[in-house]
Amino acid sequence: MLLAEQRRLLCDYGRRAAATGLVVGAAGNLSVRAGDLIAVTPGGVPLDRLEPDACPVIDVEGYLVEGELQPSSETPMHLAVYTTTGARAVVHTHSVFGTVVATTMTELPPVHYNALLLGGVVKVADYATYGTPELAANVRAALEGRQAALLANHGGVTIGDDLDKAFEATRLLEWLCEVYVRAKSVGEPRVLTEEQLTAVVERAFNPPGFPRRAD
Ligand SMILES: [Zn+2]
Repeated sequence: MLLAEQRRLLCDYGRRAAATGLVVGAAGNLSVRAGDLIAVTPGGVPLDRLEPDACPVIDVEGYLVEGELQPSSETPMHLAVYTTTGARAVVHTHSVFGTVVATTMTELPPVHYNALLLGGVVKVADYATYGTPELAANVRAALEGRQAALLANHGGVTIGDDLDKAFEATRLLEWLCEVYVRAKSVGEPRVLTEEQLTAVVERAFNPPGFPRRAD
């Protein structure tokens, strides 16, 4: 079986996505790239019931290489990411708070410094019908220089060097969206300034450290 390890990972993370509420039923899709091949979740199969041999393998041009089921309808978006970035994994969900922000805003402002882990401001890609080249192009533009994007009136997408990083980016994106939405219900959220964000980056690169006590 081609990409056996990658297909097993899709099942593991598909179950985690369902168990953590990020995905309901088949409303989400994941993929992993290895060389010129990509293992992707199939269309129409709930992610908590995936089996490795049900996950199709395609090449970077979108040709089906192995598997009986059709790749997810959102595969053009995954391919657009792989052909224009160095990403090795893509996670797309219709998570609740991500979709709330994607339905009401044009970007997610950085109200918490952890947004820097996704590239700062998260852009909302213009709406287009699911599965279309137009949506893929809009997402590619919104992702430029970032690890995450929201899809207007649809959901979110994250990328990473491997499936674990892409999945954790999706969890962080959802957390950031939830914090924003909940903060908005209390008052107007304060957005971090460029200066405040730059200071975070500088501190991350030069952590102070603690001197070791001489016993
Ligand atoms: Zn979708």
